Amino acid sequence: MNHDRPQPAAAPPAPAELDSATPLMAQYLAVKAGYPDALVFYRMGDFYELFFDDAVKAAAALDIALTKRGKHAGEDIPMCGVPVHSHDSYLARLIRKGFKVAVCEQLEDPAEARKRGSKAVVKRDVVRLITPGTLTEDTLLDARAHNYLLAIAQVKAEAADALGLAWVDVSVGELNVETVAVRGLAAALARLAPGEIVVPDRLLAEPELAAQLEPWRAALSPLPAARFDSDNARQRLHRLYGVATLDAFGSFARAEVAAAGALVDYVELTQKGRLPRFTPPRRHRAGGSLEIDPATRRNLELTQTLAGERRGSLLATLDLTVTAAGARALAARLAAPLTDPAAIDARLDAIAFFVAAPRAREEVRALLSACPDLERAQSRLAMGRGGPRDLAAVRDALALAPALRRAVEAAQASLLPPPERLARALADLGDHGALVARLSQALAAAVPLLARDGGFVAPGFSAELDQLRLMRDDSRRLIAALQATYAEATGIPGLKIRHNNVLGYYIEVNAKHGEKLVDDARTAAPGKARFIHRQTLANAMRFTTVELSDLEERIRSAADKALALELAVFADLAATVLAAAAGIAAAAAALAELDVAAALAQLAVDRAYCRPAVDRSLAFHVVGGRHPVVEAALQAAGAAAFVANDCNLGAKSDPHAGGAGRLWLVTGPNMAGKSTFLRQNALIAVMAQAGFYVPASSARIGVVDKLFSRVGAADDLARGRSTFMVEMIETAAILNQATEHSFVILDEIGRGTATYDGLSIAWATLEHLHDVNRARALFATHYHELTALAGRLAELSPHTLKVRDWQGEVIFLHEIGPGAADRSYGIHVAALAGMPAAVVARAEEVLGNIEKSGPSESARALAAELPLFAAAARPAPGRASPAAAALEQALREIVPDHMTPREALETLYRLKALLAENGPA
Ligand code: ADP
Ligand code: MG
Repeated sequence: MNHDRPQPAAAPPAPAELDSATPLMAQYLAVKAGYPDALVFYRMGDFYELFFDDAVKAAAALDIALTKRGKHAGEDIPMCGVPVHSHDSYLARLIRKGFKVAVCEQLEDPAEARKRGSKAVVKRDVVRLITPGTLTEDTLLDARAHNYLLAIAQVKAEAADALGLAWVDVSVGELNVETVAVRGLAAALARLAPGEIVVPDRLLAEPELAAQLEPWRAALSPLPAARFDSDNARQRLHRLYGVATLDAFGSFARAEVAAAGALVDYVELTQKGRLPRFTPPRRHRAGGSLEIDPATRRNLELTQTLAGERRGSLLATLDLTVTAAGARALAARLAAPLTDPAAIDARLDAIAFFVAAPRAREEVRALLSACPDLERAQSRLAMGRGGPRDLAAVRDALALAPALRRAVEAAQASLLPPPERLARALADLGDHGALVARLSQALAAAVPLLARDGGFVAPGFSAELDQLRLMRDDSRRLIAALQATYAEATGIPGLKIRHNNVLGYYIEVNAKHGEKLVDDARTAAPGKARFIHRQTLANAMRFTTVELSDLEERIRSAADKALALELAVFADLAATVLAAAAGIAAAAAALAELDVAAALAQLAVDRAYCRPAVDRSLAFHVVGGRHPVVEAALQAAGAAAFVANDCNLGAKSDPHAGGAGRLWLVTGPNMAGKSTFLRQNALIAVMAQAGFYVPASSARIGVVDKLFSRVGAADDLARGRSTFMVEMIETAAILNQATEHSFVILDEIGRGTATYDGLSIAWATLEHLHDVNRARALFATHYHELTALAGRLAELSPHTLKVRDWQGEVIFLHEIGPGAADRSYGIHVAALAGMPAAVVARAEEVLGNIEKSGPSESARALAAELPLFAAAARPAPGRASPAAAALEQALREIVPDHMTPREALETLYRLKALLAENGPA
């Protein structure tokens, strides 16, 4: 990384300055002592400098030069720095690598400090602690994902086995709380995927919590337990919301209050008191969302694939939103599907509306595609970190309201009744016409990112500002005119007036002419010297004049006054926006709601998804179900269409559910589509309860309380456990937790151990699921022996993915139906994979034996075969001729009854050709 410093920028401190004895180093050390866990960005002129260990770590993380300056306790002080003007990208990289950064600014002009004496140090202090969970800048955030800061608290006196959680996306300001069981922490963390977790250090010492927090180690910010005191927390929240009691917002558990208070405290601490606008805490009911544990979430690839990518995940496949806030809302819904059918229906109603009203859908989507990120713009403004572009974002987003309302209402006129969520969204869009008009008047067409750059106030908004700008422009014109005047007066045609940041305006001529001007000045009468020499370069000389300096001064003072005026206008507009904050937040949520509903409707139309019926029954009846991700992938690849399959898991014994049995035993050869079938049904349950349309022609789903998915022999080497151990731990969790309302998919469990162990475990698991958990479940297995259980377990229903044997080739139909696979076709797959023909033939022979007389019997018999006798019976494996084996194989595959005479003839030719390959006998 090159790290070049502009020449005349504030000089790096002289070595002596940094000696520990100097006031500067004393100041640095005092600041650093307050932030031992963060990298301190110490502002020195145009650079943020880092010292000591901070410098070593940052230089390595950023790949920038590590230098040395001064001495401390007799040792060199390591140092590195990043330019202020481009520090954003360095900051982003450090935050992404898990560092916290304390930004220490100069709080006064260095000139002020000099007034106090030559040794005086510029006042500095930390203005913000940047942590992964408290980001607000677009450059540091993923626009389409929430970045949550989460706090965990426990009040053992209240509930020893429960935890209070509070979380907020600081860039948005929505505060949430929830109580979870201690053992449910991992699932809650997986659902929220927080960027940072504030936790009392005491809790990290508790093994059950520590184990669940382990995968989040990089995101943990432990704090002293005292910061989680529930009484202090309550008072802090009272102050924050200006209320005497939190009752107006609902009733909260002590642990929830403690967590929320600690959260707010942490934001105050890191943001130095500049808080976003927090919404009143919203309490999430326990059991209000579908419980999905981390392993299931990973397996189902809901928000990222097993490889850790967003592409190829369910979310990426389903997300057609056109705004960042819409994308965040859609992701949040998919991550936390609901369990209340009425709430689910309300979401589905909104989608149904846009499915039925294509014009409105297209208009809304077209309008929203130009909608900026209102939520984050508002939050930055609230935290005093906003700029003109944030004001423009507020203007542009709110300005869409009337057109959006018209688009929806036009459709409402012909359709009835308007769904409740959309009606509320339209109301929430509110009437911000006056604010939009004011912002439109005030802001120029193109505005800079930072207010201090100026130039964002529109002409005509302030007469005083226009006057100052006129003066500035006039002076500029006068300067331009001077060039001609001077060129003529001196007779130097190449004379130019230029500007740079060091000299300001200056007159430049080439060196030869320059000497003449210098001579003129020397010989002129005192006070008459027009051209005052400023600088000599290799080929040019630079001058100024009294006239030019005066004009320049006029420009500068007009510009200063203009900027001060603009900043006042900015502050005023920002205050106006903040005064309307509650309404704007509601409008922002409404925009996201419209985007999500229209996007999901578009998805439903594009991919022929249907509206699921979700109720409180124990039904699970999907007709024509598809796997949303595999289907989309096949479509994108232009491959054959996905084969739709039904799944009806209602209990036979339950006349309302009317199903084929609640536990399906799914068999079928490798590659037949078992895993796909299992997953597609789990995904359909997730989507239905998230309030999405689903990939099926019809679906009725009784609300699922917990969803489990396990895959046999999943590779989890990264966690250092044997794969079989992981499989068993995960299966144990299901058998311990699944209820009658749960939905379970088990994909080939028991595969990671010896056949008999595996079969026995699968067998007992199946019985337990059937008799004790009574959950709706799909159980894929390669143990065909398990079908024998169907006679005894009333709700067990064997199903198989069909294949067709066609001229010795296995064709996968990907079609499920009642019954069991007659065989695995494993040997067939081995042949396809290019195993030597002799091995394949021998495997067929062994299989035939086992099928006839059972595994142990045949093992004994096969092992007892006398080698001599065996050798006589067929060529010894080592010397087997591949062509001969192929010939034999081909002969075996012939079914004369199925052949036309012509095919028979062709087969004869083929056999002869095979023989020929064998060479002369
Ligand atoms: P199994 O678990 O039985 O070994 P998979 O479910 O992994 O089989 O499916 C293997 C491949 O078959 C999948 O990658 C997919 O491309 C294809 N496939 C599975 N089900 C279907 C289907 N219903 N329609 C079309 N292709 C399918
Ligand atoms: Mg499989």
